Amino acid sequence: MRERCPSGFDVTLVSGYLDHELTQAREQQVRVHLEDCAHCRALLEELTSIREATMSTRFREPLDSQWDERPRGGVSLGARGLGWLLVIVWLIVVSGFGLWHAWVESEGLFERLIIFGGLSGAALLFLSVLLDRIPSARSDRYRGVQK
Ligand SMILES: [Zn+2]
Repeated sequence: MRERCPSGFDVTLVSGYLDHELTQAREQQVRVHLEDCAHCRALLEELTSIREATMSTRFREPLDSQWDERPRGGVSLGARGLGWLLVIVWLIVVSGFGLWHAWVESEGLFERLIIFGGLSGAALLFLSVLLDRIPSARSDRYRGVQK
């Protein structure tokens, strides 16, 4: 304890009293002393409030983080979803235009094969990344619910 009892009482007994770790005789001794000693009464009150605070924060902690994380996760998930949507729309528009343009501009089967082979390869890569993304986002959401 940070302070000593002015009448020389063993203040560790006060915390023992709070935790109900003392023998009946000791407990009685503390009870009698507490009636006389304002210092040890204040100490007991302080220890009790500290104990309650640590107990309640221990219980509240997972709840707090749950409530803190949920809206944040929701917003970032929404932003990520919107981001993906914009990227997909942009890619469809750009690649659609590019494909049409390339098809019109290109001459001969060989040139078309080169252009569309590369493009479909890139599209497949993008698709595989996208498919990887979707299950991970889904499992993130389930993890958030379980917490
Ligand atoms: Zn005292």
